[in-house]
Amino acid sequence: MRTAIFPGSFDPFTIGHYDIVKRGLCLFDRIIIGIGRNSVKKETFPIRERLAAIQRIFADEPAVEVEIYDCLTVDFAREHGVSFILRGIRCVEDFEYERNMAEANKQLGGVETILLYTRPEYAHISSTLVRDLYSYNKDVSAYLPAYPKTDNNDRQQ
Ligand code: ADP
Repeated sequence: MRTAIFPGSFDPFTIGHYDIVKRGLCLFDRIIIGIGRNSVKKETFPIRERLAAIQRIFADEPAVEVEIYDCLTVDFAREHGVSFILRGIRCVEDFEYERNMAEANKQLGGVETILLYTRPEYAHISSTLVRDLYSYNKDVSAYLPAYPKTDNNDRQQ
C-alpha cells in the first residue's frame, strides 16, 4: 500500500488543500493529513478544531486519515513507516520553499516529496487569505471544503 503524509498548518484547511488531497488519492492508496503543531506560527483556529473539521470533511473517505503531530515531518513520516510527503505548489515562492524542504527531508530521512501544482482557479487561495477575511467578519465559506452530504452539504462556518 502506497501512503503519503500531507503535512501543513491548515489554519484553516481550504479548498486548495482539499484539491491536493483528492488528486493525491490518484497517486496514493492512503493519505495521512498531518497537522503540524507550530510553536512559532500563531494559530487562528485551535488545532483540535482543525482536526475535527478535516476529519468531518473526509468522513466518507476511508483512505484519508488526520492526525496532529509535534515533531519534525520526517520523524512523523518515519513513525508511520511512510516514505512520501505530498505538498502543493502555487507560485514561484512556494517552489523555492518546497525545494529546500524536499531536499532537507530527503537528506534527513530519505523521504521523497511529491509536488502537485495547484489548479489555476485555486492558485490565489491560502489559509492567510481566509484568516484575513475572517478577521474582518467576511464570509469565507467559498474557500472552505463542504462537509459530506450526510450534513446537508453544509460548508464550514
Ligand atoms: P505550511 O504551513 O506547512 O506551509 P499550509 O497549511 O499553508 O502549510 O499548506 C500546506 C500545503 O498545501 C503546502 O504545500 C502549500 O503549498 C499547499 N497549498 C496551500 N494552499 C494551496 C492551494 N490553494 N493550492 C495548492 N496547494 C496549496
